Amino acid sequence: MKITPLGAAGGVTGSCYLIECGSSRVLLDCGMFQGEPHADAMNLDCSGIRPAELDAVVLTHAHLDHCGRLPILVKLDGVCAVPAGEAPTGGRAALAGGFKGRIWATPATIDMTQLILLDSAHIQESDAERENFKRLRRGDEPPIAPLYTTQDAEETLALLTPLDLAVEQEVAPGVRISFHEAGHILGSAAVVMKLSEGSERRTVVFSGDLGPRGMPLLRDYELLTTATAVTGAAAMTDARQTATGTGLLPDLIFCESTYGDRDHRPLESTVSELREILERAAWNKSKVIIPSFAVGRAQQLLYHIARFYAAGTCPRLPVYLDSPMAIRATALHTRYAELLDRGARTAGFAGDFAKLLPELRFLTTGAESRTLNDSWEPMIVIASSGMCEGGRIVHHLKHNLWKRNVEVVLVGYMGHGTLGRRLVDGASQVVIGREKIAVRARIHTLGGFSAHAGQTDLLGWLAPLLPARGKGGRTPRVALTHGETHARTVLAEQIRARHGVVCELPSRGDGFTL
Ligand SMILES: [Zn+2]
Repeated sequence: MKITPLGAAGGVTGSCYLIECGSSRVLLDCGMFQGEPHADAMNLDCSGIRPAELDAVVLTHAHLDHCGRLPILVKLDGVCAVPAGEAPTGGRAALAGGFKGRIWATPATIDMTQLILLDSAHIQESDAERENFKRLRRGDEPPIAPLYTTQDAEETLALLTPLDLAVEQEVAPGVRISFHEAGHILGSAAVVMKLSEGSERRTVVFSGDLGPRGMPLLRDYELLTTATAVTGAAAMTDARQTATGTGLLPDLIFCESTYGDRDHRPLESTVSELREILERAAWNKSKVIIPSFAVGRAQQLLYHIARFYAAGTCPRLPVYLDSPMAIRATALHTRYAELLDRGARTAGFAGDFAKLLPELRFLTTGAESRTLNDSWEPMIVIASSGMCEGGRIVHHLKHNLWKRNVEVVLVGYMGHGTLGRRLVDGASQVVIGREKIAVRARIHTLGGFSAHAGQTDLLGWLAPLLPARGKGGRTPRVALTHGETHARTVLAEQIRARHGVVCELPSRGDGFTL
């Protein structure tokens, strides 16, 4: 049996593991590489995967860096055209047909993946179209094909097969899996994989991406525990967990390490800072503009605002959710209300944001969105994209950054070179669509929202699976993935100090033989 990380090993994008067990070949996640050198070539290179020979794919959650390359596996011709000279393996990797098996995911992940992949395909198509117009005008280069098309994405979505949390399922001969709440985004799951080959049995745990404990709206991650194997119901004594008696004695654990080197700022202080900004805006009759990722972050923001209003701690302003994708993601939180945390459910919130927040307005068309440009009324506008590089947020910023009674609240990570990053860095003037715009609005950067567990919560997730230092017992191997070098190294040091386990820090392609 062999498990090989093919992405997010030494970086944070392109999550992908190949599991080989007897004659079975299973892939866990197939995410897009983003922002790395050679990312385009890496996305096209399926030579290590051999899609047509896969028995099944398992998907932990719907983020693009975990599901974004699935359509490439499925593409009809199965040919991964790698530009010469750019590919890590070189040349053109011709593959005998695409993947035709099942892609297993939780029901909520299936719906979220539909949003994300169709959006991604649309972006790939429009990027290719724009590039081809340039090439046509220059007349010196042949047209390029999009990474994948809407049709490729639709064919991929047809393969998605639902598997509920905590239900064990054979996905290929000798490979059984179960999903367990990861508390990261709606539908996200960690995976317990039981492998058997002849008389040999091995268990591997994949964390997927883990959410921070105590994040409102979503449930906390499930604590997987070794104790259940011995005592049956012991795990249920911890009120925090919804342990399912997995009886876990893992041989190998792959744990994400995105924030392995630090804890986030406490969420409460970030939330109260948001409340103060909104309160001040209401008194000053200002417009508040919040660039936000459409999936996850936008729903968290709506929930916080609804709670301020319900508690009477902030005067009510109209709230506009200005992103078709965010509107659809919000509806999914209603459809899967059973996945929301106890706080949300006991507050009588069944996931229906429109009921919880009567001031909420959904703007579906671009024309509706542009009507806000002429309005000087106080309001809150939540629009994507999160880093201000495209989408409707761009015209909101263009029409408002130069005004004094405007508050811009930046609530997410801003990549280098993005408009969002220039605002974080305090630019007094920015260029939007070739036009210079003065920045007179107040810019607020709130760093405490995160969908990723910090160091303490990563250690908390691992703790029940590892013996305390000096206690003996069988010790699993632990591999840290999905983290930059510093984050992985610091987390590895913490795990060694607490549990006496020396972690492995694999690079892309390093196989684990069990
Ligand atoms: Zn994620």
